[in-house]
Order: sequence, then C-alpha cells, then structure tokens
Amino acid sequence: MKKKILTVQFRHETNTFAPKPADMQAFRCNRFFVGEEVFPNVRKMRTELTACLDLFDTREDVELVPTVALYATPCGPVTEEVYDFVTRQILTVIRKEGPFAGVFLDIHGAMVAEGHPDGEGDLMELLRRELGWEIPIVASLDLHANVTEKMARCASALFPYNTYPHVDMYETGMAVAKLLEKTLDGKMQPAMAYRRIPFLQPLLSHESEALRPLYELAEKLSQTPGVVSVRFAHGFFPADIEEMGMSVMVITEGNASLAEKTADTLADAIRERIPLLTAEYMDLDSALDIALREEGTVTLADASDNPGAGGMGDTTHILKRLLERGITGAAIAIILDPESVKACIAAGEGSLVQLQLGGWSDPVYSGGPLGVTAKVVKLTDGKFLQTGPVQHGVIVDFGDTAVLEIAGNLVLVTSLSRQPFDIEIFYSHGIDPAKQKILVTKSSIHYRATFCKVSKTMIPLALGGYASPIPGNYTYKNWKQ
Ligand SMILES: [Zn+2]
Repeated sequence: MKKKILTVQFRHETNTFAPKPADMQAFRCNRFFVGEEVFPNVRKMRTELTACLDLFDTREDVELVPTVALYATPCGPVTEEVYDFVTRQILTVIRKEGPFAGVFLDIHGAMVAEGHPDGEGDLMELLRRELGWEIPIVASLDLHANVTEKMARCASALFPYNTYPHVDMYETGMAVAKLLEKTLDGKMQPAMAYRRIPFLQPLLSHESEALRPLYELAEKLSQTPGVVSVRFAHGFFPADIEEMGMSVMVITEGNASLAEKTADTLADAIRERIPLLTAEYMDLDSALDIALREEGTVTLADASDNPGAGGMGDTTHILKRLLERGITGAAIAIILDPESVKACIAAGEGSLVQLQLGGWSDPVYSGGPLGVTAKVVKLTDGKFLQTGPVQHGVIVDFGDTAVLEIAGNLVLVTSLSRQPFDIEIFYSHGIDPAKQKILVTKSSIHYRATFCKVSKTMIPLALGGYASPIPGNYTYKNWKQ
C-alpha cells in the first residue's frame, strides 16, 4: 500500500491593524484551489508545495493528497468563514482518504483568524487531534512567521525561509520535503528545539550588516554532525498576538540535547545582537534630493503603504511632493483607487481626466486624495506574470489598471491592492523602468530582488500607512514581552 502524505497550502500574513479582513473574496481573487485543482496549478509556480511535488514525483510508493491551495494578499484577520472552510475541507479529506503517513504544510506562520489568534497553531493542533502524535507533521514557514509554542509543540519540524527578499521559497520547501522523505523511510526521527525571543525586529534584509553574522552562525551550526537545520524567523510585528517576535528552530537527527544546546547558542547570539537590529528611514525630501543628484535611476520604496504587509497601496505622499517640487521623470507603482480607474475607463485612452486620486483609506495615514489633471496613457487588465525570483511564475492580478501621465510623471492606478515588488509591473504596462529618473514602489524589501537590475540606489521610506515598518509606531494590546 502506498504511503499517503496530506498536503495543505494555506497562506496568509495577517496585519491585525489593517482595516480589511481576509474574506472569501480576498482569497478567490488571489489563489483559491480546492481538491483536484490544487496540484496542476501549484506545479505552474515555484512554491514550497511545488518542491514537495517535484521531490515525491520519483517515488512510486508515496502518494501526495491535495486539500487546498489558498493565498491572499496580507490584510486584516482571516474570516471565520474562510478558516472553517479550509479546516472542513482538510477534515473531509482525512476521513475519506486516510490513513496518512505524514503531513506537509505550506503555511506562512503569521496567520490570525477570527477566533484563532494563533491560526497555524490551532490548525496543527486539529491535525494532531485527528491524526495522532506518531506521524510527522512538517511545515515550511515565511521568514516573518510568529512561531508560537503551540506550533512548535505540534510540528515535527519547522523551516522558515533564510532570505528576505524571499527568494528561497522552493528551496525551503525542498528541504522540508527531504526531511519528510527521510523520516518516512525510517532513516531519521527529527528532534526539534524551539526558542522564542520576544523582540520586535524591524524589517531587515538577510543581507543587512546587522543580520549577516547571525546567518553565518546558523550556517556554521548547521554543519555540526547530526544537525539537520538551524534557522530563525524574524517575526511579524503588525500582528498583535501574544507570542509575537523572533524565534529559533533547530532540528537534529533525533538528538534532543544537541538540538536544545544548538538552539541556545543561536538564541543567545540573537539576544546579544538586539541593540544592532535597527532600521533607519530617511525623510522624503532628502530622498528626492539624492534622486535628483544621482546619475541613473533611483528607487524610492515606501514600506508603510506596502500591500504585502497589510498596507492599502493608496497613499499619495510621494506623488504630492513630486508635484509640489515640480519634479518630473518618475514612475509610480502603485496608487490603489478603483473609483478613479472606473473614471479613466469611461473616458478612454488618450483623454484628459480630472481626478481626486488615492488617499481615501485614512485621512492621516494615506495623505488624503490629490486633485489632479491626468492624461490616460493606457488601460490594462492589471494581470502579468512575475518573472523575478520572489513568487516566480505567479500571475498577479492588480485588477483594471490605468497608466496616467501627471505633470511629467507616470502613475499606475490599480483596482486591487497588491505588492508591486516585481519590476515586470512597469514593462507589462509599457514603461521602461531603466529610462525613468525615479521609480516609486510600495514594498519593504522584496522589490530589491528585481529593481536592482535597473536601479543602483534604492531608498526605503516610512511615510505613513497601515504597514509601518517601525514597531514603535504600533500600540499593542495582546503582545506579551
Ligand atoms: Zn515575509
């Protein structure tokens, strides 16, 4: 009889401060595959589950069983309806297709659902209740997971990514799948140690000076004989739950004391380095001065309006200042404003429109709407294939989109809130990013992976929005330090 592995892809990074919930519609307009639809669609991408499929393709004696593949752009909590739908789907498959020899979870690790502040912890607990404690339950996690004690207790192995921008999703999935394979083959019994460090780390790249020594230490420790994986998660601080913060996960080939000792070594090193884990943000005028002074294209990335962390994507701070200072030659991706897009579609390509553009989500955060006269340069359906290393192969859908020319600057106005991290967003809308003086995006770190091809200088900004990259800007009610 074939060994069956239950697979689940259910991903959401929840910003509990964001105004919009992650409801059915939020998942349906991103990724929503159920049952037999899951594998053919996941194979077209380079996700963690894709790696699992690729690895076990060669194994005649193993059968992967699909449940769901759901993903929504980060926003407010996952609704009860969605969470119940997914858990019901999983339970139906378990009862119909069991028994199972193992579980592969492709999850984020910072999901908050209505009634489930620890979304993934509760999911894992449910799986343990149904499937018992004998079989391996392994999971790949985003680097921004808030790993809880419950998740660490219920999972046999947890692997957060090692990169930010996240360019190792597939590789992380492959590492998890290989561990699962070895466990199923009886070649090892993983022992995992977990440490939580209740520190709210600002958004830092794995390549930053502050973090690099920690990644080097983790890599060195992972070379110890008997050690399988030494990884740490940065945590996600716009999620006000009790167990928010950084965490360490060490997995060994069954040697629990080696796992504990190694986890302490890395956790101690992280704690020592906390004073250095800071991020600085420049004011907008200084950033614009640099952009005007420098040769070539300069990128300004406003992290606080990043739809990839729960921002709306509608802020107008940068466009407003460009217009006030009479600066031209900028291309902005994006300003979310479905109503303005409708007005542009009604007017048609080539026409002039008067708009109250963007800035509608919050009068303080978003900068308020901007009264502009704009030329409608191009209208698109807002869909394009992401070709960069982050979410490679995923067709992203920004909804109906208008490319506007406003006083010598180009602005992509979209109908759906998505993180514009792939430089392809410009090419697919007829804009050559290398020919622009300034590129504006709403992304924290991911944009670096592709914007670096045309822009040597990339300046992160924190101008205001629901996704401020500064932990001190949030008021927490639930977090326990
Ligand atoms: Zn992340």
